[in-house]
Amino acid sequence: MPILRPFAVALLVFLQYPPPAADVPKRAAPQWVAPYREASARLIGEAVGSDVAWQRLAYLGDTFGARLSGSPNLEAAIKWAVDAMTRDGLENVHVEPVKVPHWVRGRESLEIVGPFLQPLVMLGLGNSVGTPPDGVEGDLLVVRSFEQLEAARDHVKGRIVLFNVPFTTYGETVRFRAEGPSRAGALGAVAVLVRSVGPAGLRTPHTGALVYAEGQRQIPAAAVAVEDAARLQRMSDRGTPVRLRLKMEARFFPDADSANVVGEIRGRDLPEEVVVIGGHFDSWDVGTGSTDDGGGCIATWEALRLMKKLNLRPRRTVRVVLWTNEENGGRGGQAYRDRHLGELPNHVMMLESDSGVFRPTGFGFSGTEAGRARVRDIATLLSGIHADAIGPGGGGADIGPSVQHAGIPAMSLEVDGNYFLIHHTPADTVDKIDPLDLARSAAAIAVMTYVIAEMPDRLR
Ligand SMILES: [Zn+2]
Repeated sequence: MPILRPFAVALLVFLQYPPPAADVPKRAAPQWVAPYREASARLIGEAVGSDVAWQRLAYLGDTFGARLSGSPNLEAAIKWAVDAMTRDGLENVHVEPVKVPHWVRGRESLEIVGPFLQPLVMLGLGNSVGTPPDGVEGDLLVVRSFEQLEAARDHVKGRIVLFNVPFTTYGETVRFRAEGPSRAGALGAVAVLVRSVGPAGLRTPHTGALVYAEGQRQIPAAAVAVEDAARLQRMSDRGTPVRLRLKMEARFFPDADSANVVGEIRGRDLPEEVVVIGGHFDSWDVGTGSTDDGGGCIATWEALRLMKKLNLRPRRTVRVVLWTNEENGGRGGQAYRDRHLGELPNHVMMLESDSGVFRPTGFGFSGTEAGRARVRDIATLLSGIHADAIGPGGGGADIGPSVQHAGIPAMSLEVDGNYFLIHHTPADTVDKIDPLDLARSAAAIAVMTYVIAEMPDRLR
């Protein structure tokens, strides 16, 4: 029997693969999508029959590396994208200038100085202030919530506060990274550490932006790995006094020039009506931003390349936008809204891919019930690649400003993968991404976008 066990496990895994895309029962394709079946099959076939997208994503990360706002790497990558989109035959390829914040990490370190000297792995939080050249030193205070910080308010002064909050969802846990530094700073802390906002990795710290509260004292802040947060918690629970030293050179320079990249396939009947898809081209300054969000950029761009390659010119314009500065400012998304303000009423749908390009399961959708029904119908064309589930909210940080301003139906690519394990870490490199997953992601986006741009009536 023990000999059979590995086989039985393998069989179980095999029988469950591919896993069901959603708990929604499969639906038969409605009659109205039948005319799009052939184009959809061609788009999917072309996508999964090549590794163009993955090779492009690998080239992006390998050549330019990390693409933080203000870096020459990002600007060089933007130039490359414009050239490559032009070579793909996309139309109206251009940049739309955006002034972006220019934060630079510099050298940084964190060490336990007592009871014994030990360096720890860390990453300063984006937009943090730096420390004096000799760093800041303080005794450790560990809290697990804002309530515990409040309860310890008389003991915060002069301390380095660690928020040791286990990862639940990004939305729930990220507020300790965003707000923790100002909350502890207001009570007199000299620095803040946060347990990385993500599931346990291999002692991988996760950077990410903090947001200083208006008018509050600004103190330096850094992320530590899940393992080190747990270790500092144990030392604290034992009553071991822990003294830490944090050194960070982080600082802001004057705002820098950057740009959103735009490419199109102009609509053949209704060119003024636009379906916008895209991702953010900037990344954090560690890793190569392949999952966050090089993959989303390449997958949406690939959707247009596929249409162009197959000579599919839909009724409406399809536009890909690679937004700048999502990670530490959101200026690209705001600039897009401001520049296209008059045109936003003609935006039929906006889709952002910023959850990784792992195995696609479908899309999130925000809009009317009628719109949702339409999108669910279109998704039946993706049942062959198990990307046909339509979930409750869709959207993204970069499309958000436009979507909210004009009430535009919003979508996001949904995938099954380890996004929050990888993003904002040095491990965000292209090897985590399966070429076929990326090809299927591009195929799913291409089919959904093509049908919305092609169908006779506008998505409402
Ligand atoms: Zn992102």
